[in-house]
Amino acid sequence: PLVLGIESSCDETGVGIVRGTTLLTNTVSSSMDEHVRFGGVIPEIASRAHLDAFVPTLQESLQEAGVTLEDIDAIAVTSGPGLAGALMVGVCAAKALAVATGKPLYAINHLVAHVGVGLLDAKHDAGAAAGLGAGQLPENLGALLVSGGHTEILRIRSITDDVELLGSTIDDAAGEAYDKVARILGLGYPGGPAIDKLARQGNPKAIRFPRGLTQPKYMGTAEEKGPHRYDWSFSGLKTAVARCVEQFEARGEEVPVADIAAAFQEAVVDVITSKAVLACKEHGITDLLLGGGVAANSRLRELTGQRCASAGIKLHVPPLNLCTDNGAMVAALGAQLIMGGIAPSGVAFAPDSSMPVTTVSVPA
Ligand code: ATP
Ligand code: MG
Ligand code: FE
Repeated sequence: PLVLGIESSCDETGVGIVRGTTLLTNTVSSSMDEHVRFGGVIPEIASRAHLDAFVPTLQESLQEAGVTLEDIDAIAVTSGPGLAGALMVGVCAAKALAVATGKPLYAINHLVAHVGVGLLDAKHDAGAAAGLGAGQLPENLGALLVSGGHTEILRIRSITDDVELLGSTIDDAAGEAYDKVARILGLGYPGGPAIDKLARQGNPKAIRFPRGLTQPKYMGTAEEKGPHRYDWSFSGLKTAVARCVEQFEARGEEVPVADIAAAFQEAVVDVITSKAVLACKEHGITDLLLGGGVAANSRLRELTGQRCASAGIKLHVPPLNLCTDNGAMVAALGAQLIMGGIAPSGVAFAPDSSMPVTTVSVPA
């Protein structure tokens, strides 16, 4: 099926078009520049930017794919989770298009779409040479989603209707921690890329920052699993970084910014990868898909690759532009839903800013 996907959950306005598992176009317009001076995404600004960007993004996407709205078999739109006002813009646009063209509409989960994008026949940056492929979904597939808003480990028995949450962050998302620590270190926004770059010049062993929720009372034993065994916590780490900077300043010493960045990154990446691999091992997961904006992180890619390899887990890392928020991932999941015989959502649904990951699409 030829599917048009619309994404507007945060600061990216995305329109993507796929035919089955073939990617035709992926057009993204970001309002990131407008949020930089505030040090974070301002919801009202993001919503207005979607309103400005949507029609041009749609037109560019259709033109690039060489198709018209009449050619499209179905429309898919991110219905949640995300910023309420931002979601509203994409959902309203999608409903209007669906009503005007008479095409079926799928209201889909943004997080599951981050996984669905791995099924496109795009060349992956790591692991399998091609996408996971339609109908060839590994039986024991897991997904590690690491973004500005989420840090989750999922088990996917069926991409259309059976997604299980194994673990997640209990406070800040990993990307959020990067952004907050970058602010403490005076590196600006968004913090992820800046810390990633600076960390290469630092010594990750110079300081040892805490690994949240890894104490025995949380991890338990192999027989008796503690609470939060597969969960993460990054707020204590952020506080530890702030204390560390304060101590250097109080002593009148120069703050070793590169070392702190490297040590912080090592703590984040260590705990993300160790818990993800543990969850995979204990759930018989043989294939792991890495997604979300933080999947751009060089150290996360490196350590996930190493630890998956030693655990015998096959790692799949889609190309970077498909890891960050985009419309193609929404279209990709929409196509999977259609091929899986799932009924469309209709046009009566409302976006849900806290849509649970277990809801792949809104039922009719
Ligand atoms: P969500 O998908 O959960 O709704 P989001 O849209 O904010 O959240 P993404 O756009 O997928 O998330 O990712 C943005 C986040 O990724 C930011 O927090 C940014 O700092 C982080 N990030 C980007 N590049 C890197 C990098 N190289 N290293 C670490 N973090 C990075
Ligand atoms: Mg974003
Ligand atoms: Fe996202």
